[in-house]
Amino acid sequence: MTRGLQQGLPPGSTIGIIGGGQLGRMSALAAARLGYRTHIFSPEFNGPAAQVATAGTVGDYTHLPMLEMFARAVDVVTFEFENIPAVSLELLESLKPVRPGAKILAISQDRLLEKQFLNDAGIATAPWAAVTSEEELVAAVAKLGLPAVLKTTRLGYDGKGQTMLRTPDGLAPAFASLDPKPLVLEGFVNFAAEISVMVARGVDGTVVTYDAVENRHKHHILDLTFAPAPLPLAVLEEAQSIARKIAERLELVGLLGVEMFVTSDGTVLVNEIAPRPHNSGHWTMDACPCSQFEMHIRAIAGLPLPPAVRHSDAVMKNLIGPEDIALWPRILATPGLIPHHYGKTEARPGRKMGHFNRLFPKGSLPGEFGIEDALKLND
Ligand code: AMP
Repeated sequence: MTRGLQQGLPPGSTIGIIGGGQLGRMSALAAARLGYRTHIFSPEFNGPAAQVATAGTVGDYTHLPMLEMFARAVDVVTFEFENIPAVSLELLESLKPVRPGAKILAISQDRLLEKQFLNDAGIATAPWAAVTSEEELVAAVAKLGLPAVLKTTRLGYDGKGQTMLRTPDGLAPAFASLDPKPLVLEGFVNFAAEISVMVARGVDGTVVTYDAVENRHKHHILDLTFAPAPLPLAVLEEAQSIARKIAERLELVGLLGVEMFVTSDGTVLVNEIAPRPHNSGHWTMDACPCSQFEMHIRAIAGLPLPPAVRHSDAVMKNLIGPEDIALWPRILATPGLIPHHYGKTEARPGRKMGHFNRLFPKGSLPGEFGIEDALKLND
């Protein structure tokens, strides 16, 4: 047995996952393949993750007695949802190893801490300014110009908690509409592409990065991921080296997604980081020998990390809301599409219901791809 295996959790151990959605579900499935049990802590009964896990605790993320019971029942704690109150994290950390740790979660929960951390590490972001009052917003706009993007510092996702400022008379209503305060103003980045890199770091300090991918959004929600991103190699390598630097600086144990903008001159700016599996890493489930979910479980369980190699090019298509999931029977009937359903019964608009991957031989990734192209194959 290698040293890494001896130090890692033995099969039969229980991995505690905070959060009960699809990221927890796919993490639990990967954990099962490595011989682990999973225990899900979530406010929702029988959600996507609990359906495939060994055990579940239903409780609010602020309910300390329930969190304590959960922590006592598991061997290591990880997350698929990172907006956990600091006091809950402290309790968990006092009982079991929490990976990634509270310091990383605190940074990723707060856009101001996140940008400060990135800039201190010499990593470029959009220009930004903290905004706690309307007067500060006016001053920040004078400095950064318009258009600009005003965001909450906490609890934003899928374009929620942010608004675009285009004209000076829009400032006061925008300030009033966003909560909780404080806010952050970001200069508008006229990006050529949005990309991301998944990076993992093991207990022994090994760092692996998956290839940089391009993400295309529809109504602020990820729609398609192209792996690899069709951009010059130097840009892709720069993105991977930024992700590696972030993982090392944070002394990450686990997996982290880094979302970035690429400008037309090839400059890479970090938008945000997420210390967990990420929607833009779902392509790895079918295009890599070790998916982001297995890499995540390996990292937090103290197992060796294999190289994050890719054997195929891939497109990932999210299935969002009632419209996309209505195509499920056709997706199943289309050869070449690799389906992933999240087990959610109610298809609300904007809700992520599943995704599919389509693989291509390396070097033959199409520049354009849509659900129409995918389904046409079988028509
Ligand atoms: P976020 O919640 O920060 O991931 O932002 C959601 C989406 O809004 C991003 O994926 C971008 O498409 C867009 N966006 C966010 N910040 C900026 C910015 N500073 N400049 C231009 N577009 C942005």
